[in-house]
Amino acid sequence: MSRVLIVGAGIAGDCLAVFLGRAGWDVTVVEIAPGLRTGGQTVDLRGGSREVLAELGLLDEVLTALVPQRGIAWIDDRERRLAAMPVEAFDGRGFVSSEELLRTDLARILHDAAAPLVQYRFADTVERLTSTADGVRVHFRSGDAEEFDLVVGADGAHSRTRGLTFGPEKNFRRPLGLAHAWFSLTEKQDTPTLDGWYLVHNVPGCRSVEARPGHRGEQEIGFTFAATDLPARAGRDAAIELLEREFADVGWRTAEFLAAARAAPDFAIDTYDQVHLERWSAGRVVLLGDSAWCASPLSGLGTALALHGAAELAQALASAGVRRHPDALGNALAAYESALRPRVTAAQKLLPGRVRMVAPRTALGIRGTALLMRAGQARLLKPVLERLAEGRGHD
Ligand SMILES: Cc1cc2nc3c(=O)[nH]c(=O)nc-3n(C[C@H](O)[C@H](O)[C@H](O)COP(=O)(O)OP(=O)(O)OC[C@H]3O[C@@H](n4cnc5c(N)ncnc54)[C@H](O)[C@@H]3O)c2cc1C
Repeated sequence: MSRVLIVGAGIAGDCLAVFLGRAGWDVTVVEIAPGLRTGGQTVDLRGGSREVLAELGLLDEVLTALVPQRGIAWIDDRERRLAAMPVEAFDGRGFVSSEELLRTDLARILHDAAAPLVQYRFADTVERLTSTADGVRVHFRSGDAEEFDLVVGADGAHSRTRGLTFGPEKNFRRPLGLAHAWFSLTEKQDTPTLDGWYLVHNVPGCRSVEARPGHRGEQEIGFTFAATDLPARAGRDAAIELLEREFADVGWRTAEFLAAARAAPDFAIDTYDQVHLERWSAGRVVLLGDSAWCASPLSGLGTALALHGAAELAQALASAGVRRHPDALGNALAAYESALRPRVTAAQKLLPGRVRMVAPRTALGIRGTALLMRAGQARLLKPVLERLAEGRGHD
């Protein structure tokens, strides 16, 4: 057994590509986008990401890409601070940690490590998967067909591999009630500076507008609002019209950000969802990352789980010796799942009130959150907020 197809060149897919490429597998990665997908906000190295990156020998490179951030501040529509939490408040492990990098940079570092070891098929995807006596016949959208020994679906929360193997998304998706749009704003001469601060402007009606410093002078912009589904999955224009309606009455720099969203090359929008599946594999198809267990960005652990999942899957395949003993594949996939399941289940258990904390419903709720953030840094209440910040919202 040696031929593996990984669907999705995201964090999980490219991390697995490095592990399996180095272990001698013949790896193909198919990615629907025309090139490596960039964009996204920051991810941090908590939850064990550091250890996996160190195992891959990529930690030093990752550490050179850290974003210089001074902290997080909750502001009103005139940018007056309601509360602020410097990076140092919880020894670098608060709501904004001292070890964060842009998702773009992590994706690029993993991709550069994988590229010499594996083949990429960009701008393509799986159209149909058919089980054969000793493999999976993959029909690509481009019209090609090839046989693989193993197919790994690492194609994100809206996974096509999952749809083809386990059924429609509605059976597994649990919306959390919020949606998020994000893009990079290239700094121009007259762009107000963030001075290293991640600014959050909460607005009644479960809405917030956020700007955080990037790595190269750009600002990463986010809009959060209440939604369980997005008719706007139809396309960018529809999505931006939706944002314009949702945020029409919002002050601060909202109008500037909405105008910039139209031109941003990396604009993206999605709902905050979780994905719950009873099993992550069926025959020779296995899911990895958000496609299998998306815990949502509110868990703060999407990247850590993706990296850990890739490491566990690679380890399980190696330990069972499936390259020489294909019959051991079932045991290897079961071992991967049982090693990872407890970690995933814990990450998916969001603390009560976690969703409302990100986007309070009322002006009172906004003031309450700001008060909690201020008071929570005082000695007496520190352990409570520390737990929230360290776990960033999960049990
Ligand atoms: C561009 C982008 C920006 C993101 N920004 C953030 C962020 O700011 N904050 C946050 O918490 N999380 C963000 N995420 C999600 C985050 O990366 C994941 O939650 C986490 O890293 C788990 O990684 P994953 O590899 O399972 O999924 P992802 O990182 O989402 O990767 C999935 C990959 O599969 C590809 N793909 C999708 N469908 C197909 C298909 N049919 N065929 C082939 N390939 C396909 C996608 O283009 C993508 O490259 C972002 C994801 C992307 C793709």
